[in-house]
Amino acid sequence: MDRERIIERLDPATDDPDELFEHFERRYVGGNAHYVLTDARHGLERGTVVVEDEGIVRGYPSIPRVLVAETGIPEFFEPDDSVVVEEKLNGFNVRVAAPGELLAFTRSGYVCPYTTARVGDLLDLDQFFTDHPGKMLCAELIGPETPYTDHDYEGISSDAVRVFDIRDRESGDPLPVADRDDLCDRYDLPQPRQFGRSDPDRAVETVRDAIQDLDDAGREGVVMKSADGTALVKYTTEAQHHADLAHAFSVPFEYGRDFLFSRVIRDGFQAVEFEEAPDRVRERAHDLGESILFPFVEAIRRVERGDPVGEIHTVRAEPAVVEQLLAHLRDQGLTMEILHDQHEDGQRVVEFVKVAQSTRDQIDHYLSGGTRDE
Ligand code: ATP
Ligand code: MG
Repeated sequence: MDRERIIERLDPATDDPDELFEHFERRYVGGNAHYVLTDARHGLERGTVVVEDEGIVRGYPSIPRVLVAETGIPEFFEPDDSVVVEEKLNGFNVRVAAPGELLAFTRSGYVCPYTTARVGDLLDLDQFFTDHPGKMLCAELIGPETPYTDHDYEGISSDAVRVFDIRDRESGDPLPVADRDDLCDRYDLPQPRQFGRSDPDRAVETVRDAIQDLDDAGREGVVMKSADGTALVKYTTEAQHHADLAHAFSVPFEYGRDFLFSRVIRDGFQAVEFEEAPDRVRERAHDLGESILFPFVEAIRRVERGDPVGEIHTVRAEPAVVEQLLAHLRDQGLTMEILHDQHEDGQRVVEFVKVAQSTRDQIDHYLSGGTRDE
């Protein structure tokens, strides 16, 4: 790898190649070397990948969050910004690019063979990348059948892709929202729902109404974007905060304590901002408690019975693709237990548990009388 040239193109906040490249991990994808930045460093996003001889695929930036929409949105944007409010979908981030060949990268810069195949099946991308070889599609893979998330969306029985951003893959610069809309229309790429475009003050109202509807529908939240696509901030629903907790407490020893605290803070500020009456706060508190304790108790019972604990996923694709996915997940050190494995219409459908080893071990330890220092 020509480090000097790569560093010029990455334009990091350091010009010492050693200092930067010690944070890159080398992986091979079909015989090609990928150098992957595993943590955000020197102004470069986590998941940034240098594909040997083919160029760079920048990571997707971390999106900050407002806890109080009413003050947070006007504070975050410039007063003369035009703010687009769009739905934040609960799936996983995938960057689709064509450095040599079409590849789908996860947030941390892995090429996922399953996601690459699914994105190729779900979207017609040849023309897009012929016309725009230097761009990447930033998208969410959503639906009940994916290897990483399983949130149900009305009308999606397996999986689907929503393109929420189009960026230059070398610089990471986004297209303005309107240009992304145009390209998505032209190439038939589905996008998330948009709720409106206005100045920051009016965006607060748009967000408030959207959050109400999304919460009722058990959906995640919104991302607000400046019209030029550069400033992004997110805000989420009560339903999502509780769903996050329920998920975390189904594998309670896999997540840090910050995870719990951050969800409680989100709910607390939201209850105050929405001026909730005591009964409504009680309902929220009740729901929050249930989302913690019910899955936790169930996890302990599962371990007691000797049942597997962990995230359960279903995947559906051509048999060879499913095989590659399972190998890919094992390579990452995951242990899986297969619950169902069958063929439907020429596709292999596998339901599996990503075994939560640390949860199982710790629960076992306490069930057998182990002590805890606290
Ligand atoms: P981070 O805090 O680094 O952004 P995270 O994994 O905690 O990462 P989330 O809280 O899910 O992220 O929020 C950011 C992610 O939301 C994006 O990376 C993207 O995958 C997803 N997303 C879903 N819908 C949208 C959208 N309309 N616009 C932008 N991002 C979206
Ligand atoms: Mg997400």
